[in-house]
Amino acid sequence: MNFKDYIRVIEDFPQPGISFKDITTLLRDGQAYKAVIDELARRLKDKEIDCIAGPEARGFVIGAPLAIALGVGFVPIRKSGKLPGATIEADYALEYGKDKLAMHNDAIAPGQKVLIADDLLATGGTIATSINLVKQLGGEVMGAAFLIELLELNGREKLDGIEVFSLVQY
Ligand code: 5GP
Repeated sequence: MNFKDYIRVIEDFPQPGISFKDITTLLRDGQAYKAVIDELARRLKDKEIDCIAGPEARGFVIGAPLAIALGVGFVPIRKSGKLPGATIEADYALEYGKDKLAMHNDAIAPGQKVLIADDLLATGGTIATSINLVKQLGGEVMGAAFLIELLELNGREKLDGIEVFSLVQY
């Protein structure tokens, strides 16, 4: 299956000059969505992973079903102010904007092996911040998995040499 056939590219969203990769057209197709999760699970099944952490909102859409497929737990990474318990926070910069990401301070036990998952790797800012949060909690980051990687933005270079898995590249 060619996943690119299911991804819709919308020019100038959310601002002029951005070529947005819209995955909603893939997600609404049950076979394509399942094929994405199955393929990521196939590539990751031999990795030692205790849990998957994913940033809201599209990191949940990839990370949670992948966690079920691999038989591990899922930990949400959220925008500041959304999690009910005590949190740790870190600043991050997006391809187009700025914010803070947060995790519950007991979400990961020291030494746990964590895979980070999101829909798309652009500049790497979101995942670099996610890695920072997981490491603050004592987690060991085993890799980062994406449906899409935007190669020209060189996001991999921000990820401290962590192994990157991506199914589709632009
Ligand atoms: P980065 O932090 O790597 O620059 O940006 C990646 C984050 O922004 C991801 O969480 C992703 O959901 C979102 N993002 C940025 N550009 C796009 C895009 O073209 N399509 C989608 N689906 N998400 C994007």
